Amino acid sequence: MSSNQIKARDNDLVDGRVPGFSTLSVHAGEQRQKMANSITDPVVLASTFTFANTQSIIDFIENDEDRGEYGRYGVPGEQVVERKLAALENAEEGVLFSSGMAALVGLFNAKLSAGDEIIFFDECYHRSREYCKKHLSRFGIVTRQVKTGDYDAMESAISSKTKLLVSESPTNPHLSILDLARFAEIGEKYQVETMIDATLATPFNVQPLNFGVDYVMHSATKYFGGHNDLLAGIVLGSSDKLAEIRALRGVTGAVNSPHNCYLLERGLKTFEIRMQRHNENGQRVAEFLESHPRVSRVLYPGLPSHRDYQIAKETMRGFGGLVTFEVADADWKDASKVVDRAKLARIAPSLGGVETLIEQPLVMSYWGYEPEERKSFGISDNMIRLACGIENSSDIIEDLQQALATTD
Ligand SMILES: *Cc1c(COP(=O)(O)O)cnc(C)c1O
Repeated sequence: MSSNQIKARDNDLVDGRVPGFSTLSVHAGEQRQKMANSITDPVVLASTFTFANTQSIIDFIENDEDRGEYGRYGVPGEQVVERKLAALENAEEGVLFSSGMAALVGLFNAKLSAGDEIIFFDECYHRSREYCKKHLSRFGIVTRQVKTGDYDAMESAISSKTKLLVSESPTNPHLSILDLARFAEIGEKYQVETMIDATLATPFNVQPLNFGVDYVMHSATKYFGGHNDLLAGIVLGSSDKLAEIRALRGVTGAVNSPHNCYLLERGLKTFEIRMQRHNENGQRVAEFLESHPRVSRVLYPGLPSHRDYQIAKETMRGFGGLVTFEVADADWKDASKVVDRAKLARIAPSLGGVETLIEQPLVMSYWGYEPEERKSFGISDNMIRLACGIENSSDIIEDLQQALATTD
């Protein structure tokens, strides 16, 4: 790394203090003087990087020099984003992938071998479950699922073959919140590594590594990118633990184009102010929905009615923009009508972007599942998932008000 580059946190942005979130998201990970003295990072569109002569190749290999070699091993813009996200997450390092799923797969494939077992808390993104159940199983890796928040069940499921404990926090779409210290302690007690998918939290709301968790994974497609215009993912942790993951990524090639890296870097500049608004909107919308007669249940960790309200309040700064609710006395078609009547909220999967999105998990993610199977995943027929964007909360609330107003 050249002296002009700043590492995650040991930079000289502010004398002797840890910079604030926005200062980090604007400046961390970037060179002070850039190409052509530009204030913004150049998008270096190169799939390969040249060497002056044979000796410089040998020097590069023998001295592990920090420079480009071939695009699959990393491009300059990717390093900037990895360092910026490491600074925000208070991690030593991050490895960027082409999507959140590629990050999850990259971590699992680097760390697990035939005969190993992993244990999951059962509320999770349906594709994460699918990867474990359908694909890791083909390579002789066993996935055990225990009820989210049942720490005793997780502990009893651990055997000498267990290599990884996995959970989301908050979980999708129930927004259950983990006691991260307890989760990390179980891992430590049995010498099993722990991973949190913290996509729904972001480091603005909680930093799982500070609780002793080994790996944090994010779909950067969501709040980090923030504008519904890119896919990316990242695994963060200690440099030591990430080395194998980075090496395997260089083999499998789930990397981002230079242009995608730049979009992510640009999105991150406004990370803190977007998160403040997502948190504010989520809270206000959840409170509105809870008071609405046509809503029978609201799942939002910032509401005292949520099962994990206490631990959420103690450990998190805010609770994000995702709000899950159920329409009173509604079958799936009645609930669809509420979705279809929304005008400001757009019907789409995903979350964390500036636009408010609305969807019905039964239709969007669990269509074709047997009713008992859906029930076992806690997906009810009348459930709606609203991902608040950064619009004005009064407008989102008014939209929901009119969408819930009639029953026909
Ligand atoms: C979206 C999402 C993922 C998958 O990320 P992609 O970027 O879509 O591959 C994983 N976990 C959670 C919690 C998500 O919301």
